[in-house]
Amino acid sequence: MLEEKSPQRTSIAQLGEFGLIDHLTKHFEINQSSTLKGIGDDAAVLDFKDKKTVVSTDLLIEGVHFDLAYMPLKHLGYKAVVANVSDICAMNATPTQITVSIAVSNRFPLEALEELFAGITLASKHYKVDVIGGDTTSSQKGLIISITALGEANAEDIVYRSGAAANDLLVVTGDIGAAYMGLQVLEREKQVFQVNPNNQPDLDNYTYLIERQLKPEARKDIKELLEKLEVKPTSMIDISDGLSSEIMHLCKQSNVGCTIYEEKLPLDPQLISVCEEFNIDSTTVAINGGEDYELLFTIALEDFDKIKANPNLTVIGHMVKESEGKHLVTRANQKIELKARGWNALAE
Ligand code: ADP
Ligand code: MG
Repeated sequence: MLEEKSPQRTSIAQLGEFGLIDHLTKHFEINQSSTLKGIGDDAAVLDFKDKKTVVSTDLLIEGVHFDLAYMPLKHLGYKAVVANVSDICAMNATPTQITVSIAVSNRFPLEALEELFAGITLASKHYKVDVIGGDTTSSQKGLIISITALGEANAEDIVYRSGAAANDLLVVTGDIGAAYMGLQVLEREKQVFQVNPNNQPDLDNYTYLIERQLKPEARKDIKELLEKLEVKPTSMIDISDGLSSEIMHLCKQSNVGCTIYEEKLPLDPQLISVCEEFNIDSTTVAINGGEDYELLFTIALEDFDKIKANPNLTVIGHMVKESEGKHLVTRANQKIELKARGWNALAE
């Protein structure tokens, strides 16, 4: 977990807009050779030479995408960067720059924004992305964060959602479902706290799950790993909304179906035991829970030998002809139709 600073409250109105921007952004360094001009002019200037540029944007609204009751601001800043970096990684590109735009109500003191930017700074250093600009304005209620990430790739290395073919293997990195269960644990603790604020939560049995929810990491390492293994995915997506809905995206855009196997889903032991405690089916969590920021990709069948020994990569099934549909084969060998039940902000 990330360390929190002591509470002190300085009004942001005192600094004024330019003072605030300067205070929050003055320490950002430029490290990418493609950044010719970062913060400080009307626009940043970039030069990607003979590489292609990939761009992705996310918008995060307090109360819709995050709850500050259990999401510390430093973690929120970190995670907001991770979500965007993950999208760039899912194109098999290298993240290089971000812009950060925020709208804040005056209920946030300067110290709160410092925490948010401490998380953004930590993530930008970790993923080696330059913060090259953004916008800072006020909101009447709550906090809004929008991050845009840029990345670079050789044209021939870029991987789209649309390249999967029947018989390709479906591969997932790391393990899945833990971020969702981390959120369930935090929500339960929030309710306990509301009933009795003196109750000190004992979260020792949940550290991995909570870490996955509050401080996820983007799989920037996978591009390099696959290059070493000499495997180029045929299609790829990151798991932000949940495995089943991401599989649906690959199937739809590639015009294929799929069969995945319950027994192959990579689950952390802590996830399994906490699902038992909460009386929730761990397969449902693995399939529908979001925010793991792992990568889901397909490879040609003949590349199986190159990846099979790698502990980071798990084959969970394969693609089939579109007419054969999308299915999950259970441990009891039942074939059930796969449905997209991922997290949907518009359905709230
Ligand atoms: P403008 O008036 O052109 O919008 P601003 O005064 O808003 O310029 O911003 C000044 C500089 O600070 C610009 O380079 C802008 O990209 C940068 N900036 C503003 N807000 C942020 C932020 N929240 N994070 C990073 N950079 C920012
Ligand atoms: Mg501005």
